[in-house]
Amino acid sequence: MSLPEAFTQRLEQIVPRERFGNVLSTFDLPKQVTFRVNPLQTTPEALEAELTASAIAFERIEWGVLQGVYRIDPADKLRLTQTEAFYRGHFYIQNLSSMIAPVLLAPEPEETVLDLAAAPGGKTLILASMMQNTGWLSAVEPSRERFFRMCDNLKSQGVTNAHTYMTDGRSVGKKCPLMFDRILLDAPCSSEARFKSFDEKSTMFWTLHKVKETSKLQRRLLLSAFDALKPGGKLLYSTCSFSPEENESPLQHLLERHGEHLKTLPLVLPFDNVQKPLTRWGKEIFDERIQNAVRILPTDTIDGFFICLLEKSKNA
Ligand code: SAM
Repeated sequence: MSLPEAFTQRLEQIVPRERFGNVLSTFDLPKQVTFRVNPLQTTPEALEAELTASAIAFERIEWGVLQGVYRIDPADKLRLTQTEAFYRGHFYIQNLSSMIAPVLLAPEPEETVLDLAAAPGGKTLILASMMQNTGWLSAVEPSRERFFRMCDNLKSQGVTNAHTYMTDGRSVGKKCPLMFDRILLDAPCSSEARFKSFDEKSTMFWTLHKVKETSKLQRRLLLSAFDALKPGGKLLYSTCSFSPEENESPLQHLLERHGEHLKTLPLVLPFDNVQKPLTRWGKEIFDERIQNAVRILPTDTIDGFFICLLEKSKNA
């Protein structure tokens, strides 16, 4: 089994030449399992005691911005999900790059926050815990099955400040203009960073046509997020795809429409497997402001990811 050839050819044009071999090899490996403590239900110390009592060997990941993050051997994942701590929602299994997006958005208690593409709710949980279950957290998801899975997750993890909506994120900007202090748009994407060369199912729906169709949806979701954002508010855009059509291009589209009211903010990440966004792709030349975004390159622990943080001007 292998990755689609069109995908690897494009990846070679996106990733720096000296890193391409390493990046490609990560698709052949099972990823380390990482998880984080749920501060709404317990503390890192109490979780560590529970894991030790269940004979789960864990390694603490020291991550300045995010406390209570752990790694275990993938072979122990099943046992981890059979522990009492798992059933009680004391931790949430999630990749490190997924944890970083809500942390960089940095919502505060009592704010009004929107998670515009929220299911299954892994990032909503972090937003809720950073808000200490206060304020107003809207979580939007149009897929019925995923919506109910998200509701179950939020409930079992002790989230009480979330209001859930089964609706299309493209309609939210018009329905709720200028309403939110912070918005997370962890956009639906072609999930290229989740590909595994040993799992045909992970790549079977990928086509270049789908990447381009997804790009159109992402553009519309970004415009909706802009409309829903308060003046002075912050918007974090992320995807788990490498394609510039899903990352730099939708941001370019947003800046062409509303650039006079937007700036991008520089990001500091606690690891160095990152590259700057592309300055051009094909005939498209990207706005300089997009250079503040980061493309996270995959390792044996961290999934590939793309993140951009934007701020709307106070007089928008
Ligand atoms: N943020 C989630 C988490 O960390 O658990 C993952 C979100 S996933 C990358 C993108 C989600 O967007 C999917 O659940 C998908 O069903 C949803 N989606 C698809 N089309 C959408 C739309 N038009 N509006 C809002 N969400 C949409």
